[in-house]
Amino acid sequence: MLTITRVRCILTAPAGIGLAVVKVETSDAGLYGLGCATFTQRLTAVKAAVEDYLDPLLRGRDPSHIEDIWQLCYQNSYWRNSPVLNNAISGVDQALWDILGKRAGLPVYQLLGGKSRPAAAVYRHADGRDPQEVLDNVLRLREAGIRYVRCQLGGYGGLAQPSTDAAPYNNVGVYGGVKGNMRSPAGALPGEYYDPDVYVLSVVRMFEYLRAQLGMDVPLLHDVHERLAPIEAARFVKQLEPFRLFFLEDPLPPEHIEWFARIRQHAAVPLAMGELFTHPLEWKPLITQQLIDFIRVHISTIGGITPARKLAALCEAFGVRTAWHGPGDISPVGHAANLHLDLHVPNFGIQEFSGFPDPLPEVFPGCPELRDGYLYVNEAPGLGVDIHEALAARYPIHGDMAQFSGGVVRWTQSRLPDGTLWRP
Ligand SMILES: [Mg+2]
Repeated sequence: MLTITRVRCILTAPAGIGLAVVKVETSDAGLYGLGCATFTQRLTAVKAAVEDYLDPLLRGRDPSHIEDIWQLCYQNSYWRNSPVLNNAISGVDQALWDILGKRAGLPVYQLLGGKSRPAAAVYRHADGRDPQEVLDNVLRLREAGIRYVRCQLGGYGGLAQPSTDAAPYNNVGVYGGVKGNMRSPAGALPGEYYDPDVYVLSVVRMFEYLRAQLGMDVPLLHDVHERLAPIEAARFVKQLEPFRLFFLEDPLPPEHIEWFARIRQHAAVPLAMGELFTHPLEWKPLITQQLIDFIRVHISTIGGITPARKLAALCEAFGVRTAWHGPGDISPVGHAANLHLDLHVPNFGIQEFSGFPDPLPEVFPGCPELRDGYLYVNEAPGLGVDIHEALAARYPIHGDMAQFSGGVVRWTQSRLPDGTLWRP
């Protein structure tokens, strides 16, 4: 009988963003599987969860018992549904699907039930400091064949003048043509400062400009990144309704999901939610009450392919489409896992995609390929992506993980103008 002989976690940052990849080795010397366990803000905790707990638990077990092993890993900690532990399980789970595919000589999408489409449509990000710069970036992406574009002023939140450690925010910023009028008090701590009013007003002006220049037939998206109080989010969604967004993402944090029912009553704007979800009770009411239109979970953070395909089936029953989280803090193995699900699930919506900057394709041979706005798998058995371990070792993760997340220092230390720590 084929058995699991070792489970380990490889940490690497080839493109500057820390990644965690789990390797499950078997009693067949040449046969192993890879899975993405990336939680870029807490990488070494994930590695410990994999190697201190899951490795001894899984040695000697049959790697084809994917469901049983998922349930075992999930329940073995007694307390469950957390990031870190779910990421660790995801790494194992994706690796077991990879092994099963390699043994069967089939890509993972075939094991799930085959293709519902030949490739997955992606959206990419256009950022800018002002509406014209955003427009230039939208047009550049459109020329490259990308049809769906997420538009942000200053990254996620229309940041007003960010502070530096030496000079905390105390200016009157003009952002995207909107003038902020708040000053920070003496003693305000360092961070990335933003003003919710400046954010809302500047993004509405951005979409007015983009629609005037592009017309209505270019699918545009936007991510609020949970930066608003609930009633501000409700007003913002109404203001965005005329701009015909493909979807609006994360208008509220998971703590305020009850507000979605109110938002829904006021504007017919497609809503995408769930990037931060880790617990089934976070998504269950939103899906079964049809309060969102796209589920946006980070597959590694909910525990891998096994729970994601069940979540997709739940969504299918309630008319919700998938839009798995796909930024740079997912390894190419994780992007492949997203894509195999995208190809199969009937209720696929769209796939976020951040590209594979060098040297990722060299460290991870077999990366999915983007052609004319669609992402394709390479059709190799399993997930189709390998890791060049010696090369990965040349790109160690950043030493100060509490400061460094998602490639941007202090991104998770956002503050309101009066110095209050707020959500990134
Ligand atoms: Mg997001």
